[in-house]
Amino acid sequence: LTKKILISACLLGEPVRYDGKSISFTDRKIRYFQQQGYLVPVCPEVIGGLPIPREPAEIIKSVGGFSDQKVITKGGCDVTDAFQRGAKITLEIALQNNVMAALLKSNSPSCGNLQIYDGSFSNQLIDGSGITVTALKKAGIPVFNEMQVDLLCDFIERQD
Ligand code: SF4
Repeated sequence: LTKKILISACLLGEPVRYDGKSISFTDRKIRYFQQQGYLVPVCPEVIGGLPIPREPAEIIKSVGGFSDQKVITKGGCDVTDAFQRGAKITLEIALQNNVMAALLKSNSPSCGNLQIYDGSFSNQLIDGSGITVTALKKAGIPVFNEMQVDLLCDFIERQD
């Protein structure tokens, strides 16, 4: 590869999710990239200062843009600041490492690239991006999820 790839730490087996677990995800190509040192693992929520484990959180619908979005835990705590801090620092890490793309965990309020939960804590997905994905996309960094490894690899081939 000519450049590195940002990746959700939970996809590499790090137990950083809200429930203190990782994701069961193995892919031959991603494993190879990891062995070759091409991956930059990040967990935006932990980077933003949230603990492991932590309460699940969802983005609350808003009519405004990124700065108007609120992230609320199931128990009603406003964790927007931590999510935005995590997004900002993650973007800085992405830029410092000059990554060509990101492979982030689907459906997360930080890392989801196509869909997120709708804010009602009733398992309903809607089209939308997590807080970190919004920041990365604004900076022109393409974001794929763990079900889009083939698309990511097509993208990488076009870059090399
Ligand atoms: Fe994984 Fe992203 Fe959630 Fe961290 S914030 S646990 S990297 S999905």
